Amino acid sequence: MSLDINKIRADFPILDIKVKGKSLVYLDNAATSQKPLRVINKITEYYEATNANIHRGAHYLANKATEEYENSRKAIAAHLNAKSEREINFVRGTTEAINLVAKTWGRKYVKAGDEIIISALEHHSNIVPWQMLCEEVGANLLVIPVNDKGEQLYEEYEKLLSEKTKLVSTSYISNSLGTINPVHDIIAAAHKVGAKVFIDAAQALPHMKVDVQELDCDFLGFSGHKVFGPTGIGILYGKEEILLDMPPFMGGGEMIKTVSFKGTTYNDLPYKFEAGTPHIEGGIVLGEAIHYINGIGLDAIYAYEEELLHYATNKLTEIDGLRVIGTAEKKASVLSFLVGDIHPYDLGVLLNEQGVAIRTGHHCCQPIMDQFGIEGTCRASFAFYNTMQEIDALTDAIRKAVKILR
Ligand SMILES: *Cc1c(COP(=O)(O)O)cnc(C)c1O
Repeated sequence: MSLDINKIRADFPILDIKVKGKSLVYLDNAATSQKPLRVINKITEYYEATNANIHRGAHYLANKATEEYENSRKAIAAHLNAKSEREINFVRGTTEAINLVAKTWGRKYVKAGDEIIISALEHHSNIVPWQMLCEEVGANLLVIPVNDKGEQLYEEYEKLLSEKTKLVSTSYISNSLGTINPVHDIIAAAHKVGAKVFIDAAQALPHMKVDVQELDCDFLGFSGHKVFGPTGIGILYGKEEILLDMPPFMGGGEMIKTVSFKGTTYNDLPYKFEAGTPHIEGGIVLGEAIHYINGIGLDAIYAYEEELLHYATNKLTEIDGLRVIGTAEKKASVLSFLVGDIHPYDLGVLLNEQGVAIRTGHHCCQPIMDQFGIEGTCRASFAFYNTMQEIDALTDAIRKAVKILR
């Protein structure tokens, strides 16, 4: 293993706090990640030495803020291997990225009788915007079924595809079960029938290299806060030729070229989709977070997290009555489980008493919970700063909690 975990952990001050007198064991990374000092310091630095509104100013700070914001966009474009930074739009997060595409591209191109395909594994934010669009235009939402291991049934997906398919939208990695979906095949098959593809990469960016040209996805969204950056900032990637043909999302300053009461002309990419004063600090600091993970290296991160997941799966399945929910062949960094008939929330509360932070509930994925006939799960989700010792602590904490609850 090539990661220096002690050095990495020293970058994350919050990992040192005590909860109920115990060392914090933070295993809720799929909900949000912790932030390294480099990111935290960049926020302060921005307000101490850079803060100004961007893109219009004639003065020193306005130019500095604009340059840093645009440099961050370039760094993110390079990180995703986008063809151009014009394909990188700053949004609030994955949720806004999906809604933006549904409300602009969707309203323009999806008509009555057309079909949109999602999967049974999706986060609510990759379900509801498409339901709203379908209701509005009279299109139909089709769902790729998922087997008992939590894997999308690819052959069933192929059967759903037809010339009626306008868009396919799937997560890269499921936040509730950790399944890595076969996005390369999904994208290629959708393109054969002329459909566009949106990849919800919220859980992919923190764990693996994502290359939009290699994937050949049409759209991709992710959230800054899950990739060691701030909340309230995220990215919508779109192929330039598609973004050019899309109507704007919100109207206002920044997204226009000229405004008159006869009519308004819209700005060039990427500003067309960035109405109003953006989250300037967030955009700049997201670039810093991307530099930070690239400094560690995503291949090393992926390999280490595979070991963590493997170790955790082995340790936890030794616990009497514990069953893992989501046993796909290909998984990343998420371990959902139940113990006997113990309510996930009760277990979560007792783990918190021991300093262990996990998430309990449906994880914004009610449909897949319904399929498994459960209300929710306990979910431990890992980042590269987690350790084998923390998994031991989780295992011990579960054993203690189960003794109390049984
Ligand atoms: C977190 C998450 C979202 C929603 O992201 P927001 O940051 O809340 O907008 C969507 N999809 C997946 C897979 C997620 O993990």
